Amino acid sequence: MSMDSPPPPLCSSMALFQDFDGSLVEIAPEPDAVVVSPALHALLQGVQQFLQDGLALVSGRRLTELDRFFPGWAFAGAGVHGAELRCQAHGAIEYGLEVQTQGAVAALRWHFADDPRILIEDKKISVALHYRLAPERQAECEQYLRKLALVEGLAVQAGKMVLEALPMGIDKGQAVHRLMCAAPFASRLPVYIGDDATDEHGIAAVQSLGGFGIKVGPGPSLAQYRLPTVGDVHVWLAAALKALLLPTPAASAGAM
Ligand SMILES: [Mg+2]
Repeated sequence: MSMDSPPPPLCSSMALFQDFDGSLVEIAPEPDAVVVSPALHALLQGVQQFLQDGLALVSGRRLTELDRFFPGWAFAGAGVHGAELRCQAHGAIEYGLEVQTQGAVAALRWHFADDPRILIEDKKISVALHYRLAPERQAECEQYLRKLALVEGLAVQAGKMVLEALPMGIDKGQAVHRLMCAAPFASRLPVYIGDDATDEHGIAAVQSLGGFGIKVGPGPSLAQYRLPTVGDVHVWLAAALKALLLPTPAASAGAM
């Protein structure tokens, strides 16, 4: 099976682990510039209903920050790559590990004080270093953050034009495994959709549990399937809902 074959349809018996940036919305120059349309919000609510709550957003963002994109709504999911978990929509957020990142945040702010293009995002339980606006400083950012993380006892994950220092043992695969222990995800067939290197942990996790991963966009991946664009992800999600709304042949014959 080629990973470029289209994924099978989403079924109501599945659990869907869905990355946000680059998978549901296009990546913006700055994290705050991302926009969620009312149509996308409605689509996700439809998917959550279709899956009877078996939908989790799995993101590097904090859950409270993700919630701001969905006014009046709080999806189940994992934030900060799994350092935060919310097993049910609108439920309480559980924090996995207590970790001190103030030292790393302060050091990064001092080191990159001369360059406003380097964005230092203090997530309290992790710190992200965005160099999208200064790509020529990538190697320096990586070298400095790795050294700092070693001193502070943190792990480093690399994403698209972003590096993050976070607690050891936290990744999106761990997040999937922990959510799969909880209702309503437990005993469902897990599916993971993601675009970035950090999503590969999540894809490996669902595939180890008998489910399948979907890679968004180009590049190598462990995923069994690929959707080339964010728009294709929307179409794939919407197809499951449309199938529900199509009149059966008997019903349409009766209406005529
Ligand atoms: Mg992403």
